[in-house]
Amino acid sequence: MEKIVLGKTGIEAVRFGFGGIPIQRVSEKQAVEVVRHALEKGMDFIDTSRMYTTSESRIGKALRETDKKAVVATKSFNRSADGIRRDVEISLRELQLDYIDIYQCHAVANVEEYRRVTAPDGALTGLLKAKEQGIIGHIGITSHSLDLLEKVVDEGLFETIMVCYSFLEPAAGEKVIPEAGRKQVGILAMKPLSGGVITSPEAALKWVFSRPGILVLAGVEEKAYFDRNWDVFLGDRRLDDGEERLIREIKKEFAGRFCRRCDYCLPCTAGIYIQFALGVRSMVRRMGDQVLEQPMFKDIWEKAAQCTECGECMERCPYDLPIPDLIRENLEWVKSLRKRI
Ligand code: SF4
Ligand code: SF4
Repeated sequence: MEKIVLGKTGIEAVRFGFGGIPIQRVSEKQAVEVVRHALEKGMDFIDTSRMYTTSESRIGKALRETDKKAVVATKSFNRSADGIRRDVEISLRELQLDYIDIYQCHAVANVEEYRRVTAPDGALTGLLKAKEQGIIGHIGITSHSLDLLEKVVDEGLFETIMVCYSFLEPAAGEKVIPEAGRKQVGILAMKPLSGGVITSPEAALKWVFSRPGILVLAGVEEKAYFDRNWDVFLGDRRLDDGEERLIREIKKEFAGRFCRRCDYCLPCTAGIYIQFALGVRSMVRRMGDQVLEQPMFKDIWEKAAQCTECGECMERCPYDLPIPDLIRENLEWVKSLRKRI
């Protein structure tokens, strides 16, 4: 089974790991079973987050129910030293572990947030303390911004990075991954299906598995989906003609409509968090309908309805997305979904 060493961490793991988002949307029994199934098939890397509601505790239960070992990575949105230190304790409790291999600063959006995280009283300080105390092994960071990840790699304060990477978002393959590899920063590749936007997992996974130097993360909530993905990982990764064609078609379909979650369009004059307003469909696909009822997302929708169509964001979007139109379409979609649930 193909393994990778995650840069200077020295952690060696199978090059395909378990993403902890989708197990939130099924029963606890099913979630525990699917994680255990993955471990028993040979997967030995799991990534989750404080943010993914029940995910840590379900993974903790699965780990207790098998003698298989896995490298465990989790993460927190907390940006302060004390706050993230408290989150490390909660993660340990939820995961039923006394040591977490990799703890990451979750979704650091831009340089300003990075400065907060790396300030003397920022999250990095809290994680360094936890590392000194021997309760975490390594410190990582996750971001959707390639510009920020370039800076992170350049400054060398984090041992791993997590980056979006798929055939719809291939830019990291040139902008971040080669340099991170040279500097021996461990590379975790997230969203191989672009957050559920790509509905052809075989072609998408073959594409990403055939890229060297990265550990690919994909989450599933059903054993059958796991088996399908695992077979792709273990099988022949060459794309056949039909899959090549499919990739071309999907790229064409999303040209001019796919939000890369880079935040260059911000700030919005109405205070809308644009990438969330544009990414609602993939969020619902990954996290289930109930995500729309969470206070944070309700707030996003209330704000999104206030788009004045001023167009300022479009001047800043490097991909020329028709942002107000896409927001309007998504609002309609959310409205019709709410009627059904
Ligand atoms: S067009 Fe809408 S989303 Fe864009 S800046 Fe104006 S109010 Fe915000
Ligand atoms: S709308 Fe454009 S600028 Fe804004 S996050 Fe998406 S891709 Fe980036």
